[in-house]
Parts: sequence; C-alpha cells; structure tokens
Amino acid sequence: MSIITTIFLVMRALLLALLWPSVGLVIASQWPDGLLRTFSMIELGMVALALTGAGVAVSFAQWRVFTAFILVLTIWSGLRFAGTPAAMVGLPILALVLLPWLRERGITGTGPALAGCIIVLVVALWARGGAPASSADSLLFHPLEILTTEISLAALITLLGLSGALVRLAIRREAIDIGLAGALASSIPLVLAPSSLTPGALAVTAAAVLSLWSGLLLHAWRLAYLDELTGLPNRRALEERIQRLPRQWAVAMLDIDHFKKFNDRWGHDVGDQVLRRVAAVLARAGAGGQAYRYGGEEFSVIFPHADSERAADAIERLRLGVSRDPFQVRGDRAGAKRRGHGGGRDTQRITLSAGLTIANGEPPESVFDKADKALYRAKAAGRNRLIQAE
Ligand code: GH3
Ligand code: MG
Ligand code: MG
Repeated sequence: MSIITTIFLVMRALLLALLWPSVGLVIASQWPDGLLRTFSMIELGMVALALTGAGVAVSFAQWRVFTAFILVLTIWSGLRFAGTPAAMVGLPILALVLLPWLRERGITGTGPALAGCIIVLVVALWARGGAPASSADSLLFHPLEILTTEISLAALITLLGLSGALVRLAIRREAIDIGLAGALASSIPLVLAPSSLTPGALAVTAAAVLSLWSGLLLHAWRLAYLDELTGLPNRRALEERIQRLPRQWAVAMLDIDHFKKFNDRWGHDVGDQVLRRVAAVLARAGAGGQAYRYGGEEFSVIFPHADSERAADAIERLRLGVSRDPFQVRGDRAGAKRRGHGGGRDTQRITLSAGLTIANGEPPESVFDKADKALYRAKAAGRNRLIQAE
C-alpha cells in the first residue's frame, strides 16, 4: 500500500469517525447569523450524529440502516417545523416498520427507494398542505375502535410492526435488526399521541439515532470478535482474553481428526458444516470453559481456573458430545459414495483430539505450546482422545 493511499485512508477514517460532527458543531457555533438561534447545540449534535451514522452505515454496506437514519431525520424535520401535518411523521414511521423485513440489497434495494418515495411524499404534503395533508392525517391518525380501545391506523401498524420485528430479531439475532427494532420502538410515543409530538421530538429522535448506532456498533463488534462461519469468538477475542486471565488458568487445544477427508470427499461446504456442528457442541463447554475458534479446524477452550480434573472432565464431555451422534452428510456429492458402497448411508463419525495444560504464571506462549504438544501426542497415540500435559 502506497504512502498516499495510507494517508488517504487514515484521513477518511478520521473524517468519518471524529472530525465530521465536531467540525460541523464548531462551524455551526461560529455561523455569523447564529444557526444556534434556530437550532440548539443538542439538535445540531443529534443531526450530526445521524448523518455520521448514515455515513458509517454506508461504509458497512448497511443500506437499511442508512435508510433508517434518513427516515429518522425526516421525522425530526416534520416535528421540528411545527404546524406540519402529522402524516409527515406518520409516513416515515410506517417506512421504518418495513425496514426489518427487507433484504439488504445495496443502494438499489427497496429500502433506499422507499425512503426516497416517502421523502418526496412528505415534502409534497408539506408544500401543498390543505386538503391532501389533512386527508392523509385523518387516514393515519383518525381513531379506530378496536375491542373497546381507540387506536389510530398508524399506531396499530407500528405496534404490529414492532412485534413482528422483535420476533424476527429473536429468530435471526442479527445486530443490525436490534438497531432497526429500537428505532421503531422509539417512535411508538409519536404514533400513540400525535398531538403532543413536538415537545418530545428531540428525545424521540435521539433515542432512535442511538438505537441505530448501537446496532451498527454491535454489528462492528461481531465482525471484529466472532468467527463468521461458526459464530464462536475468534482468535482476536482469544488474544484479548489471554491478557486478562488470572495467574492460574487452563487451556485445551482441540483438533478435528482427519478433517481434510470431509473437504476432499464431499467438498468444502460439507467441511464447513462439520466445523459448525463441532462449534455448536464446543459452545456449551462446562466448568467455566469458553471455546474459541483458533484457526482452521482447531479450537481452544480457556478455563479461568487451574482445576485440571474439572477442566479434563469438561473437555471429555465435549469430545464425547461431538462423536456421539453420527454426522449425516448433506450436499451434491453425498450420493456418490453411497452408490459406490452398495446402498450405505453417508454418515460419518466426527472425532476430536485434545491436549490440556494448566498454567501457573508461565507466559501464555509457552502454555499454548505445551497444550499443542499434548495435542500432538493425542494424535500420535491414535487420535480421538484427550492427553494432559505433565
Ligand atoms: P489430523 O487428524 O492430523 O488433524 O488431520 P486433518 O486432516 O484434520 O488435518 P490437516 O491439517 O491435514 O487438514 C486441515 C484442513 O482443514 C486443511 C484445510 O484446507 C482445511 N480447512 C481449514 N479451514 C477451513 C474452513 O474454514 N473450511 C473448510 N471447509 N476447510 C478448512
Ligand atoms: Mg489441524
Ligand atoms: Mg485435524
């Protein structure tokens, strides 16, 4: 990477992460005619935070979050310039309801297009006012009687949308969806009490902006610390954990036996399925153990104590847990072997070899080295076993 590219990347990162909002605020505070007379510093800060969030969302290719930031700013503008039709707030909220259900399809996806249409509609209502605006208002906010409760169409759709988004979140557990559901939840007070919108405008918008930011940050945290294939904490997470371990701890290195054959016989996808299956078992390590994907088909389990009996017991349970249920090979090449072997099913036993060692103040590198040597001895002794370092 050339020096110019490096300087450019550093400048861009600084601009995005740090300078943009603060420079914006400094300019705003020094503006000759006093932008601050129209907007408070907090409002400008919130707008800067939302615009920066939209920029960060784009750099993560999260266009639904970008769209949500723009919609939240549209809601805020509708509330801020009071006297505007309530539909100016209701319409963007209904677009927020849809976002968790859209697929991430980049700038040409439905999200940004939807936001564009809503913004055009909102601006048109604002410019025209009069009859179109009041009929949009009464359509969205006229109270309907449902089971003795009075609720507007906008409130009903938003509440249903939020419930749906929460169910989806519970199933998919995607960080970005947490932000989208949070932004939707923040706008509930607006649809329930549209007449008292204006005073709470800033609080509601700030809550939505912070929810979207927390979704982005959690997404970034997951990208940095979780292994994408298995969902286990990755090597970086392990390196950080090592920095804050007590003086006495234990580590087991585990390696899938003859893993290469899964790749070679059935293809890389089946190899990946095996890795996921093993990781799902290792994720439930007992005795305080935490599993990490060390790299390839190797895993580490860290115990924050030096009780070798409990640690060995936990590793044995994991090892047996992996080998107990045969692995059913699924995929394009699963049938090929069957035909070659007279109708048998493509089931395989997955086994692990493991090396365990206890640390008592030694440098982590030599502890891992000892665990690796024990693992190597487990392989040499015939695999599918645990060996403890002396
Ligand atoms: P042993 O019993 O001695 O451990 O043999 P092995 O076949 O398990 O070990 P070897 O080191 O020969 O092969 C490991 C293979 O794991 C090689 C590499 O291509 C494969 N691998 C590493 N990472 C991944 C991955 O993320 N997905 C898949 N499918 N394969 C991977
Ligand atoms: Mg290996
Ligand atoms: Mg292996």
